[in-house]
Amino acid sequence: MLTIGLTGGIGSGKTTASDEFARLGADVIDTDLLSRALVEPGQPALAEIVAGFGPSVLDGTGHLDRVRLRERIFADPQARRQLEDILHPKIRAAMLERAARSSAPYVVFVIPLLFETGQQALVDRVLLVDVAEDVQRARVAARDGLDTTQITRILQAQTDRATRLANADDVVHNDGSPAELHEAIAELHRKYLDLARQ
Ligand code: ATP
Repeated sequence: MLTIGLTGGIGSGKTTASDEFARLGADVIDTDLLSRALVEPGQPALAEIVAGFGPSVLDGTGHLDRVRLRERIFADPQARRQLEDILHPKIRAAMLERAARSSAPYVVFVIPLLFETGQQALVDRVLLVDVAEDVQRARVAARDGLDTTQITRILQAQTDRATRLANADDVVHNDGSPAELHEAIAELHRKYLDLARQ
């Protein structure tokens, strides 16, 4: 099964692009939902996280306190690696299992932080939704009502555009109209159907 990892910065157009892939018949899977399911109470990954990080990463209801865990790993690369060692093999297994169950010609995994979390190896091809920064800023401001400073802070925490572009197998530019994006996605869809047949 051909697997595509669709990524891009905040407000680049990942949802708009993945909706179009779904409309064309690809199986679109949100990896955030897959990884959240892995850390639900009762799941082995949650027990491993509590064993490694202590019960303070749980909230009052026994669910993972994601904000607290994120704070723990933010400035501690070793803790981050420890968490990734627990989660990544399970995320990979869940992705493979989900792809194996699919009857679509190919699968698109939406992975917003693909580069930040080093998940390139989990997919056959990385597809980047790329957008010029001024366009990105304008769209995020219009959609989320954030000011310039807030948007700058988010952009600085994400992988920069040049690194993303250098590490993508396919790039779809989303500076134009939604119709132009749809046309570009249709072209990629034809390419992925060809690759899936090979
Ligand atoms: P996030 O990273 O925040 O989840 P995203 O990458 O999924 O965002 P979208 O939600 O698809 O991005 O797009 C961001 C905003 O830009 C939305 O309001 C969307 O309607 C708008 N948008 C996306 N593509 C275009 C386009 N080609 N022309 C105009 N507006 C667009």
